[in-house]
Amino acid sequence: MNQPLVSCATPSATIRQRGQHEVFCGLTSIIWLHRKVQDAFFLVVGSRTCAHLIQSAAGVMIFSEPRFATAIMEERDLAGMVDMHDELDREVARLLERRPDIRMLVLVGSCPSEVIKFDLNRAAERLDKRFGSKPRVLCYSGSGIETTFTQGEDNFLAALVQDQSVHGASDKVARLVVAGSVADVVEDQFARLLDELGLEDFVFLPGRSSERLPKIGPNTKFVLAQPYLGATAAALESLGASRINALFPLGEEGTTAWLKAIADTFGVSPARFAAVTEAPRRRALEATAHYRSALAGKRIFLFPDSQMEPSLARYLSRELDAEIIEVGSPYLHREHVAGELAMLPPGVSISEGQDVEIQIDRCRAAKPDLVVCGMGLANPFEAEGIVTKWSIEFAFTPIQGYEQAGDLAELFARPLTRKAMIAGDRS
Ligand code: SF4
Repeated sequence: MNQPLVSCATPSATIRQRGQHEVFCGLTSIIWLHRKVQDAFFLVVGSRTCAHLIQSAAGVMIFSEPRFATAIMEERDLAGMVDMHDELDREVARLLERRPDIRMLVLVGSCPSEVIKFDLNRAAERLDKRFGSKPRVLCYSGSGIETTFTQGEDNFLAALVQDQSVHGASDKVARLVVAGSVADVVEDQFARLLDELGLEDFVFLPGRSSERLPKIGPNTKFVLAQPYLGATAAALESLGASRINALFPLGEEGTTAWLKAIADTFGVSPARFAAVTEAPRRRALEATAHYRSALAGKRIFLFPDSQMEPSLARYLSRELDAEIIEVGSPYLHREHVAGELAMLPPGVSISEGQDVEIQIDRCRAAKPDLVVCGMGLANPFEAEGIVTKWSIEFAFTPIQGYEQAGDLAELFARPLTRKAMIAGDRS
């Protein structure tokens, strides 16, 4: 039995918005995925715009040997004057000659490849066959027409699971799949805690290498470590796996509820659970308490960006005593975030999708102390004197688990503390 998720609120009506939205496309997820799967290479089939997006995002965020590139579609490709499959084959052959270390080649679709209806699935299948799965070739869409940045990861993980069902897996059965990319340090901590709880045969999706997962079937349970994995969950369920319903592992409360749901599913005794989690829980509570004074009573508005917003709002409200004005999410997977939404205080506005101008007006009228939003909105807000936090940082920073609870609190506290310091200097 999973731990029941206690509701302290009547869920608010959701504001559904359809209009212009300001969110990075799914290509952005390559920035953390290429670091996670260390022998994979992500090849975007896109335009110069796509190449610039990836390079500038990566240039700001990472320092490592690139394991991504863009096969740039020129005007001739877009006009249908050449065979795109031939062009791509040539690019791939050149790449593999240069980089024989690549074990998994991931073709990533973009707006341009989607607009000209380039069949990336067919290309991936053909190339996989040609190379005898050495490297393994698969594909997913990161197009801005259909994905926001975390949905890029969702499509990639779903593609990994689907590839598994086509190409088979080892004989070993995965009893537990932890789905959702987390930083290596977080994965190591979770693995240690699961070990101490006595669990065996658990795997992380994605893994650190391109090796195929153990067999997934009716004896497999999975738990989501990230809230934006609707397609991945559906792919796992299509193989017979069943989802463990849990909060997401943010903050002491979320991490404990997440681990408890796993522990209950596998029959871990309450005494063992308490013994394993007692010390890290205490550390998480202490680390969070350090930042409470900076955030208690602060009014926070979260724009839709990463789909992590309901979990972040729950953490801010329940562990840092912040007041939440609005929680936006590009998409709400009702079933997966039901526990998170139920824990928000009454009266919090929840919005799904975006009509950015109307939402900006709502935000200005509410006069928040802190706005969590994308980079495109942050600069104009800052110019108006409104303190902001880039929401993409929550995707790049290790924030899950007990040992990261303080870092998560600090991400919210830092801009407020900086503002207070500047105000102090001026007075
Ligand atoms: Fe822009 Fe679309 Fe390329 Fe993303 S995939 S960079 S939204 S053109």
